[in-house]
Amino acid sequence: MKEIILVKNGELVLKGLNRNTFEDILIKNMKKHLLPIGDFTFTKSQSTIMVEPQNEDIDLDDAASALEKVFGIAALSRAAVCEKDMADIIRTAKEYLAEELSLAKTFKVEAKRSDKQFPLKSPQISSELGGELLAKFHNLKVDVHNPDVLVTVEVRDRYAFVRGNNIKGAGGMPTGTSGRAAVLISGGIDSPVAAYMMAKRGIELVAVHFASPPYTSELAEMKVMELLKKVAAYCGTITAYVIPFTKIQEAIRDNCPEEYFTLVMRRIMMRISERIAQKQNCTALITGESVGQVASQTIYALACTDSAANMPVFRPCIGMDKDEIVATARKIDTFETSIQPYEDCCTVFTPKHPKTRPKCEDVEAAENLIPDLDRLTQEAVETAKKTFVR
Ligand code: ATP
Ligand code: MG
Repeated sequence: MKEIILVKNGELVLKGLNRNTFEDILIKNMKKHLLPIGDFTFTKSQSTIMVEPQNEDIDLDDAASALEKVFGIAALSRAAVCEKDMADIIRTAKEYLAEELSLAKTFKVEAKRSDKQFPLKSPQISSELGGELLAKFHNLKVDVHNPDVLVTVEVRDRYAFVRGNNIKGAGGMPTGTSGRAAVLISGGIDSPVAAYMMAKRGIELVAVHFASPPYTSELAEMKVMELLKKVAAYCGTITAYVIPFTKIQEAIRDNCPEEYFTLVMRRIMMRISERIAQKQNCTALITGESVGQVASQTIYALACTDSAANMPVFRPCIGMDKDEIVATARKIDTFETSIQPYEDCCTVFTPKHPKTRPKCEDVEAAENLIPDLDRLTQEAVETAKKTFVR
């Protein structure tokens, strides 16, 4: 039996945005996600995109799981292709939906007929197929309002399709439809969630990670790459930079009052990230900060960090509780990796008594105590290691 995947667009019907361009970007993204699985053709038709495997060895389970993570897809469903003939439609539905229907209590048939030449009208198709299914599956009753299984029959120009329930898609907008932004990524729980949330809005990601060897280990860096890989499963390839941060952290430790260590470090991180962002045509920064989580994330501290950047800084976790952030981290499968205990550069020289109500001018004064900061910053940008995570 020939099977295909039908994809329903999400928010593509946005005002002022060209639907065709959006769909083309979505198809390009789907192709990339399906590349390791096999060859497919893509056909646009009304608000649906038909994804057809090009040979019989292709595993549609794998294809559907890959597509479930593509932003811009509201829902997808697998469908059996059959002849435009009522007997074939009935035979296909009985066979193709056997498992789904035998586990259900209620069902409903919905028919759509875009080929008006088809001899039966939609309500007739529904009632004929419904009757046949009731006769075969004795566990079933009809429920037109809230069925366990919605059987859909579509009679189109060349074929008819039979399908059961939809699978929910990743939602959001296709990656690449909303520009580019650089995410400051640590090995923690929050920043991968922040990256995912902004990528879901169609933003293409560049990642910046600060590493301070030997204070932070190679394993910590690998953990960050692992996290980015999980996010890339949704948004496609991420360009990642690892910034050598040891000299700067040592300079902070040697020159600044301890209570300002973290904030000075944060501000320098912002500036370096902004330089990388400019190089990469990004127009915003993203962080995983959330109000009140730690001393460096009071609104006073955030104001000091924010003023170091000239670009807008998106903090999608800002109003979320830890529980909510963790729930998203579990959903996107980053949580277990995030909780592996490796040092982050943020925890290397932490002050015993950080300022929770810092004044920006005091933090700036502390920062100005570092000799040669511009040169150190420049050097960090120039010696950054660039990789592609996919
Ligand atoms: P996370 O769980 O994302 O690490 P957090 O609540 O632990 O966040 P901090 O460690 O204070 O908070 O970091 C706040 C934000 O600063 C992070 O969300 C991230 O965007 C950025 N950040 C922290 N450490 C690094 C790092 N080593 N490299 C890049 N960005 C970092
Ligand atoms: Mg952290």
